Amino acid sequence: MNEMEELYREIILDHNKRPRNYRAMDACTNHADGHNPLCGDQIEVYVKVKDGVIEDISFQGEGCAISKSSASLMTAALKGKTVEEAHRECGIVIDMLTGKENAPEKLEALGDIAALQGVKQFPARIKCATLSWHTLEESLKGGGTVSSE
Ligand code: ZN
Repeated sequence: MNEMEELYREIILDHNKRPRNYRAMDACTNHADGHNPLCGDQIEVYVKVKDGVIEDISFQGEGCAISKSSASLMTAALKGKTVEEAHRECGIVIDMLTGKENAPEKLEALGDIAALQGVKQFPARIKCATLSWHTLEESLKGGGTVSSE
């Protein structure tokens, strides 16, 4: 394992051990459920949008380490950003994980989220990592249930 992979691994393990924003939100404006039947991950994403800005974002659910870490990284990264910026970052992360080409500077600009690149080595787990991002997109569209299949 090289230094970068080691760093990515540590970030993912840390978010699994101490998930950020892991709670339900009563006063949310947007909400969606996500399921990944392949792994059994179930996640709920809560967002509070005001004037086009994500004032608060949280998640709750049961899932594997990768689904939980990915959701935790997502909430930590997007709190305080605009909805437009969140859509852009969702697109970059999903493209990164599903193997579409991204410019390296786009990934570097993502900060800790770039750690999710490590998941690409485990193709069976990619849907675990994209689940929270798809669920967030769904919640911003107005809510509902997302299945990764
Ligand atoms: Zn999973």
